[in-house]
Amino acid sequence: MSQDLARDLMDGQRRALARAITLVESSRQDHRLEAEKLLSTVLPRTGGAVRLGISGVPGVGKSTFIEAFGLFLIEAGKKVAVLAVDPSSRRSGGSILGDKTRMEELTRRDEAFIRPSPAGESLGGVARRTREAMLLCEAAGYDVVIVETVGVGQSETAVADMVDLFLLLLLPSGGDELQGIKRGIVELADMVVVNKADGALVEAARRAAAEYQSALRMLRPVTHDWQVPVLLCSALEGRGLEEVWARIGQYRALQQDSGLWAEKRQNQASAWLWREIEESLLNALHHHPRVAQEIAGMEAAVREGGLTPSAAARRLLEAFGIAP
Ligand code: GDP
Repeated sequence: MSQDLARDLMDGQRRALARAITLVESSRQDHRLEAEKLLSTVLPRTGGAVRLGISGVPGVGKSTFIEAFGLFLIEAGKKVAVLAVDPSSRRSGGSILGDKTRMEELTRRDEAFIRPSPAGESLGGVARRTREAMLLCEAAGYDVVIVETVGVGQSETAVADMVDLFLLLLLPSGGDELQGIKRGIVELADMVVVNKADGALVEAARRAAAEYQSALRMLRPVTHDWQVPVLLCSALEGRGLEEVWARIGQYRALQQDSGLWAEKRQNQASAWLWREIEESLLNALHHHPRVAQEIAGMEAAVREGGLTPSAAARRLLEAFGIAP
């Protein structure tokens, strides 16, 4: 079954891509094994896309931007996949990204593939499946894979760890905005775009861009010939998109020339390997019958001060079958 699926997927069939992503999203053990087989088969066909992370607070214009940018890329002859990461859905009970009808026009295009992440999963799980979905999109022939996050939580770090370039969308308000956004998120950005630079907001957007640019010069000095640029755009009017794409191309060329493009992907892949190992080991530990029997008692003893954490950890690992 996975051989047919792999073939149809690499043939660029969208329905096969959708089915393949559903497979990697499943937590059923037999599905996981099948997904692994599928991923191994298509792996040689991956790696060809520009992997782009896009983030920003709700209301900044992410879906408007991605729709306009996606249509712009399609006009330029590209195929575009959009994966949305939304781990907030569990806490809020509703999905920030999924509530409204988003990117209607882009959804209708054959050259586009849009997939929201399913609700109610842990960040680790969402990140794993998003990575795998990204590889599947590449194997299906998409030239640009956009991974979107809501910009309010931890998911940005996870996304920055899986993309080539992380783009942060900001509103045309002053420097206060920089503090409203978590500083860590600004530090992750390889490119900043001030959206809504139109109508009455043009001047404010210009001022904001200048402020961000000087803040970023301190926060992110030039590394490997790259100063994080602050660009202006109006997603609503479709202006500034060409410049964004040109800068992405410039970034890519710079990094490919210096070998950093490939190096970053290699580092991301090995970090992913270790995260998989850590997650699987912890999972196995928690489900081990002897460990499960002893863990509550050990934890209580540590809390009460009767046992040191290191001694308790050693005993639990012994129960698990590892003698450190
Ligand atoms: P998201 O929550 O980040 O996905 O934001 P949306 O794309 O849903 O946009 C939020 C609101 O901002 C909507 O009412 C959009 O029409 C508006 N908006 C988005 N981009 C622009 C823009 O470039 N200019 C202006 N003036 N409004 C915009």
